[in-house]
Amino acid sequence: KDDIHSPFVEFEDVTFGYDEHMVLEHMNLKVEQGEQVTLSGRTGAGKSTIMKLLLGLYEPQQGQIFLQGIPVSAMRETGKRKLYGYVEQSFHIVPGTVRDQITLYDKTITDRQVQVAAELTGLKDTIESLEHGYDTECTPELFSQGQWQLLSIARAAVSEPKLLMLDEITANLDAETEQEVLQALKRVSENRTVISISHRNSAEMGRIVRLLGKI
Ligand code: ATP
Ligand code: MG
Repeated sequence: KDDIHSPFVEFEDVTFGYDEHMVLEHMNLKVEQGEQVTLSGRTGAGKSTIMKLLLGLYEPQQGQIFLQGIPVSAMRETGKRKLYGYVEQSFHIVPGTVRDQITLYDKTITDRQVQVAAELTGLKDTIESLEHGYDTECTPELFSQGQWQLLSIARAAVSEPKLLMLDEITANLDAETEQEVLQALKRVSENRTVISISHRNSAEMGRIVRLLGKI
């Protein structure tokens, strides 16, 4: 594909089902670099499936998915990991320190990058007020649910990915915490392409793409 004129993300006539039962049929979607798009639609419409296809976890039965003009199916794992930051509804705590939660043990990530990610997500003061700061060993009780969600955003943002994918990340939060997470997202999303999924109007960002799905 001619990548000068290619959109950042493109779904071209994509048809996909996990079995004979189709989830997406002849779907087209273009997202330009730096654009923010929210996928909306009823449960089962295929919103999370779109992200999984974009991550290359599944292959469409028909059509193609391009990232910067390159078919996702032709991209290497390492190349993809540098491009994407993916945040799900639930946070997966890993054994280790607060720093490890953010870096996932990636030694190429600098302390400065960890601090910037913590600052962007509004967690810097909370972390620095811990006795051992970033070196504090983590237990689930160390942070609130909202703080864990902010940490998952820091984890996705720390490698400065070009594309952020956010799947219903405010679904389990109360209204006040949701606002805090949305503020953090606004800061993290600046100058970045973002695809998010939301059931709630309050969490919609940028252009809304409605999926009809099956009734
Ligand atoms: P929700 O708003 O509930 O998260 P969604 O729009 O994200 O819904 P998907 O998770 O993409 O919907 O699911 C779309 C359809 O595909 C649903 O009918 C679902 O049951 C089915 N599906 C999802 N994942 C799988 C899977 N791993 N194997 C088989 N079917 C699946
Ligand atoms: Mg979903």
